[in-house]
Parts: sequence; C-alpha cells; structure tokens
Amino acid sequence: MNHLVSSVPSVVGRLLFLFIGYSCAALGGLLPKLWLRFSALLGAKLLSYFCSAVLHLYPHPSVEIFNVWLRMDLVGICFAVWAPTSVFLDDARLWLLHFACACAVAGSTHRLIDSKLANASESDLKRLDRKRTLRTVINTLYFLWCLVLCGIGYDFQHLWIIGAVIYSIGFFLAPPFSRRYPDMPWHFKGLNGWHEDFHLTVALADLAFIMMAYDVLQAAE
Ligand SMILES: [Zn+2]
Repeated sequence: MNHLVSSVPSVVGRLLFLFIGYSCAALGGLLPKLWLRFSALLGAKLLSYFCSAVLHLYPHPSVEIFNVWLRMDLVGICFAVWAPTSVFLDDARLWLLHFACACAVAGSTHRLIDSKLANASESDLKRLDRKRTLRTVINTLYFLWCLVLCGIGYDFQHLWIIGAVIYSIGFFLAPPFSRRYPDMPWHFKGLNGWHEDFHLTVALADLAFIMMAYDVLQAAE
C-alpha cells in the first residue's frame, strides 16, 4: 500500500501532463473544445472511481494511510459531482469559474473532514456532528446545483430525468443517511450492504449522465 501512496504524485503529474497536452491541442484547434470538456468529465469520474476502489478494496496497512484515501475519496466525489456540468458550459470563463467553484467545494470538504474520522465508531458516525453536518449540507447544495445546471443545459430530456431520479435514490442511500437504515434481505454481513447499493446506484446514474453528455457531443457535430 505504501507504494500506492508514494505513486500518487507521479499519477497526478501524469494527469497534469495529459491535461496540459489536451489544453494545447484544444487551443491549437487540433481538438474540438467540446471533446476536451467531455474528457474532463471522464477524467474526473475515473479519478473518483479510482480513489473509491483503492479506499474499499486495498488492505490498508495503517489507519493513517486509510485516512489519506478516505480524504481522497470524499474530495474526489466533489469533482465527480461537478464532472457532467463540464459539457454544458460553452464559455471558457464560465467553465473556469464553475471549475473554481468545484475546487472551493472540494477544499471546504477537505477542511471539514475530521482527522479522527477513520477511527470513529459506527455509533459515532450515526450522529452527525457540526463538521459532518456542514460538509453534508455543502455537498448536498452543490449536488443539487450541478443537477439543475445539467437539466437546464439538456432541456430536462429523458436521459437527464433517468439520471436525476437514480442520483436522487443514490443520495438517500449515501452513508450519512443509510447508516440509520436496517439491513435488507439481500444484504449479507461482510459481503454487501447499503454502501454497496449506494455505489451501484451512483454507477447507474453516472452511466445515464455520461450517455447524456455523449448525446450533447453528437448533437454538436
Ligand atoms: Zn464508498
């Protein structure tokens, strides 16, 4: 696991290199700007899935390293929420302004994550303290804002409705809420639970929104 943590700067460096390369290609007219914005969507989603996969699947050797990935996962979600809006903002200044908003939400999320979160017991997690309440409120408002922004951009058509309904179900399955729900007959201890249902729901909604973004791309060609 240590090598995973130490490889983060090189992964970030490569992504930055890719981003600069893409930007140059777009500015030089080699790549349509809409494709660049679609790539930003896929990049943000992939980064979020990567952080989530490492957090859940790798055997973390210490609580400190688990905490690093927990932070990466929670911050990555802010960019995953921002991602679909990327294709709807034509104006470069508006795009950058909204990306700055996503960075501000991610920054405040990072600040509001308690360093003892990884050590918290299940009963502690059931109670939303001030920091977690504030983080949940900020993330919820930003999620709703991004959802509406995409809806306006796509004229609230079918793929947006499907995605928005599934995301809304996923929202109520998110850990701050689902910790209070009783287990269902399809949940098996140590194998799956509400958290897995949450990830599955979000993956389905992501699929609908990526199809929606691809539809926007095709319509523009
Ligand atoms: Zn998770």
